[in-house]
Amino acid sequence: MEGEERDAEEVLGSTLTLERVAAAKQFIENHYKNQMKSIQERKERRWVLERKLASSDVPREEQINLIKDLERTETEFMRLRRHKICVDDFELLTIIGRGAYGEVRLCREKKSGNIYAMKKLKKSEMLSRGQVEHVKAERNLLAEVASHCIVKLYYSFQDADYLYLIMEYLPGGDMMTLLMREDTLSENVARFYIAQSVLAIESIHKHNYIHRDIKPDNLLLDKDGHMKLSDFGLCKPLDCRTLSTLDENEVMDDECIREPMDIDGRFADTANGSSWRSPREQLQHWQMNRRKLAFSTVGTPDYIAPEVLLKKGYGMECDWWSLGAIMYEMLVGYPPFYSDDPMTTCRKIVHWRHHLKFPDDSKLSIEARDLICGLLCDVEHRLGTGGAPQIKSHPWFMGTEWDKLYEMEAAFKPEVNGELDTQNFMKFDEIDPPTPAKGGPSRKMLLTPKDLNFVGYTYKNFDAIKAALRNSSSG
Ligand code: ADP
Ligand code: MG
Repeated sequence: MEGEERDAEEVLGSTLTLERVAAAKQFIENHYKNQMKSIQERKERRWVLERKLASSDVPREEQINLIKDLERTETEFMRLRRHKICVDDFELLTIIGRGAYGEVRLCREKKSGNIYAMKKLKKSEMLSRGQVEHVKAERNLLAEVASHCIVKLYYSFQDADYLYLIMEYLPGGDMMTLLMREDTLSENVARFYIAQSVLAIESIHKHNYIHRDIKPDNLLLDKDGHMKLSDFGLCKPLDCRTLSTLDENEVMDDECIREPMDIDGRFADTANGSSWRSPREQLQHWQMNRRKLAFSTVGTPDYIAPEVLLKKGYGMECDWWSLGAIMYEMLVGYPPFYSDDPMTTCRKIVHWRHHLKFPDDSKLSIEARDLICGLLCDVEHRLGTGGAPQIKSHPWFMGTEWDKLYEMEAAFKPEVNGELDTQNFMKFDEIDPPTPAKGGPSRKMLLTPKDLNFVGYTYKNFDAIKAALRNSSSG
């Protein structure tokens, strides 16, 4: 018996050793890969500057100074890269968002004084929910795709318990909050934001990413009212067990799901079958439930494409479906398949043919209806399946200057007073008072099994460091 226990211990011990060896190997490979990459990027930056100068009429002496400046920044960048960035480098300010995996708060980088949004994710939550691949995707996408339609990532790092993303702070609030305040948007305002969303989705698809969780809470506004896409890879999948019961060929059960409207245009309250709501009541009901849904661990299914729900295998087209659902909500007031109960919403989505209706009193233009129906349909017929240009050339967008959308004045200007203003966000209570992290990241390599999953998470953006340097030297 004793011998058996010892054997078991040895096997366990050697598995752990193997895991550690594998992690160390990955760590070292990563380290060298990153080093090679940064040497290459440094060369490229120098080359770009030299070429730019060669074709300019900047005087020779000035040119030498500019190159010296770049080299100085590069040296400082190397120095800062070696600095192990940690949560202690930031002063933690107001909480502006809370989700299933952690929170988002305003913070100030102590050294530069710069304001950022810090998203903090609990490792143990990510592991227990099988979200490791998703957080990696989020960090990779943000680091790879530099676009004015995507929130900018400045740093990512980790300590023993949390992962951190330091992003630009978008003080205009999210689209969910705007929609709750406004009920509906005019077609002109909706056109502006749907058009910016088209550009954002197009830019991630170009990098071969699918968002899968596009919804108003993940569309953020900057201080001028321009919109950026955020929250990548952290889709909150609905519980797989309930979803596996979805079947598009199932016989429609009248008790469980009714037509969304009966003849006099009222909605069935599907949770208790008997009561009926007018479109106005449906709007109020949606608004009452909206925040609760946003903060629940499963998230709202209202914008998810049927093929994603059915786990049929899906591609980029699923993001265009979500856009159709958001457009419907912007113009009608609530999303097309809303129901009190998320499972009923899922069923309605899967049986969208029976449930996609426009309330009688909605004043949508023919073009708007046509575009929504072109997005909320099966994959084979869905607009965007052949690429974003299919959507951009839809008549609803007639006159849209696609190249100028991020330069022109935004359709809505949020009220923002100063860089610390959080008036466009909900108020959240502090759960854990923001105490400084215990000791910060450990100096030794953290290679416990929990951390093995997150090797290679750390990232620093060259532009970010340049901006930080500029600020700290001028301040
Ligand atoms: P979750 O995975 O929990 O949905 P998100 O990244 O969507 O996490 O963040 C939750 C909320 O926090 C957002 O809906 C938004 O209101 C706010 N938020 C997130 N990132 C930023 C940011 N960079 N600037 C401003 N607000 C943000
Ligand atoms: Mg989100």
